[in-house]
Amino acid sequence: MPENILIAIAWPYANAEIHVGNITGSHLPGDIVARYHRLKGNKVLMVSGTDSHGTPVVIAADKEGKSVEEVYKKYHDGFLELFQGWGITYDLFTTTHTENHFKVSQSIFLALERNGYMFKQFSKQWYSPSAKKFLPDRYVEGTCYICGFEGARSDQCDNCGNVLEPEKLKNPRAKTGDGALELRETEHFYLDLSKLEPDVKKFLKERAGHMRDTVIGESLGKIEAEGLKPRPITRDLDWGIPVPVDEAGWETKKLYVWFEAVIGYLSAAIEWSRLGSEKEAWREWWANPKARQFYFIGKDNIFFHTSLWPAQLMGAGSAFMEIFAGEETPLTLPFDVPANQFMNLEKQKISGSRNWAVWGRDALTRYDADALRYYLTVNMPEAKDSDWDWAEFVARNNNELVATWGNLANRVLAFCYKHWESYVPSFGEGGGTPPLRDADKNLLATIENGFNTVGAELEAVRLRSALGEAMKLATAVNVYLDVNAPWTAIKTDKDSAALTVYTALKAIDSLKVMFSPFLPFTCEKLHTFFGYETPLFGEGYVEEIKDSLGTHNGLRYREASRTGSPTYWKPSELKPGQKLNQPGPLFKKLEESVAEEERARLGK
Ligand SMILES: [Zn+2]
Repeated sequence: MPENILIAIAWPYANAEIHVGNITGSHLPGDIVARYHRLKGNKVLMVSGTDSHGTPVVIAADKEGKSVEEVYKKYHDGFLELFQGWGITYDLFTTTHTENHFKVSQSIFLALERNGYMFKQFSKQWYSPSAKKFLPDRYVEGTCYICGFEGARSDQCDNCGNVLEPEKLKNPRAKTGDGALELRETEHFYLDLSKLEPDVKKFLKERAGHMRDTVIGESLGKIEAEGLKPRPITRDLDWGIPVPVDEAGWETKKLYVWFEAVIGYLSAAIEWSRLGSEKEAWREWWANPKARQFYFIGKDNIFFHTSLWPAQLMGAGSAFMEIFAGEETPLTLPFDVPANQFMNLEKQKISGSRNWAVWGRDALTRYDADALRYYLTVNMPEAKDSDWDWAEFVARNNNELVATWGNLANRVLAFCYKHWESYVPSFGEGGGTPPLRDADKNLLATIENGFNTVGAELEAVRLRSALGEAMKLATAVNVYLDVNAPWTAIKTDKDSAALTVYTALKAIDSLKVMFSPFLPFTCEKLHTFFGYETPLFGEGYVEEIKDSLGTHNGLRYREASRTGSPTYWKPSELKPGQKLNQPGPLFKKLEESVAEEERARLGK
């Protein structure tokens, strides 16, 4: 039975470009796992989108003198281009600024209210009488009441590092220059997380067996130390999702972005269904206790995904389904949150403002996507922070990707193409059964077992280890070829050379599948060299989507039409006598000078 797998990836914020740290942190691991499950024949739904609301994008728009909508769309369209170039196969990459997301978020809000998990409370907030509005914390600066630093943000001082209580700030002023400020009372909705604390703890303990220790440890530790406290879920802001209450005074307030952006995982699945022919298909991932949901995020987002988001889902529960879909079913909860640590660059923290970064779109102008995907996977910050090092990028490209795997595939295919007139060697009538020797059988058994060992690592989202395992198998084929040397044997014993070449081709054909979630572009190319007609994967495309808020572009994925078995994750059944296509190199060797050239670009 195919399983339903939801791949939910952190929503990038619409005020900065995506760099390699973001890609290795969430988008790439999510894509690798999605591709693996698609090869297995599982039903995969991979979603994310642009987080278009909140104050940073409003501030960015003010600075650039553009509308907020223009600014979020500029970043959003850039993301779509980047994902296509990197082969990140979203079934739907949308935005939070859609009619559908508004409705779903408002329905979650109403369900939480109906279930008694919300209350209203007044608090003090800085108000600008000249602009006639409350200012979000990030809009207000002043003098730190702890260290006296004059450029403190109202919620945090960058000089002494303390988190500040905004109402205690001295000499407050608006970043936008909106005159003198005064403290005024403002009313907001709070999510009463303390009521959900026992459920969240139970949820986490049930998952301790398969979630990463870093993730479980941090989440439970924080709850044990501080408890789950009520959090405001609305704020005074023009840009965002209206609060669904029919009372005077609430029309100038919006849902808090921390509360609504995570709801995107659910709303994007619904939007995806509604774009297709099966309008209610989203329920297979969201109202199905057997569906497995994986959340790919960076470590700064762990608590939101392991504790706050499950609390929202449990609190809204079947009331959401009743409001939104007319039936009472609980919502499916996250299965795993394989959060990554951070990637640094040349031993320093990646910083967009200092241009200490390798930008996703820019890198594609000089390097192939699979070379970048390879380095980001072998260096993925799964257990601890990792470091992008340009010299290491060149070395691993040349010594591993090109020397161990690329040359292996290329030299065996080219040799066969030349000496067996473009056909896989055959052994008698109609291709025949190859009379395999022990060494051939042993190699194929070793390689075919890789579908279990590499597969187990992919199941557990240990991607570095999965790729390392596949690379070890490629080395085993190289050793086999060194021992059996078909290049020499062909001169004296073509039958023996034919057996070696057939065995090596079959091994490479299997390895191609194991490598393909990591290196999809080159494996697809290799797949066509073997003469197969149906591709391994489908393709991404951009669709313009219209709703009552206007239009937005969505990145979509069209699955390849497959004939025969729904699973590709299985040993090669390469037939003797199969016609090959003209092979060519899969990867490029890089000059060592690349490292110095790239280092010279940093920080400029
Ligand atoms: Zn301070």
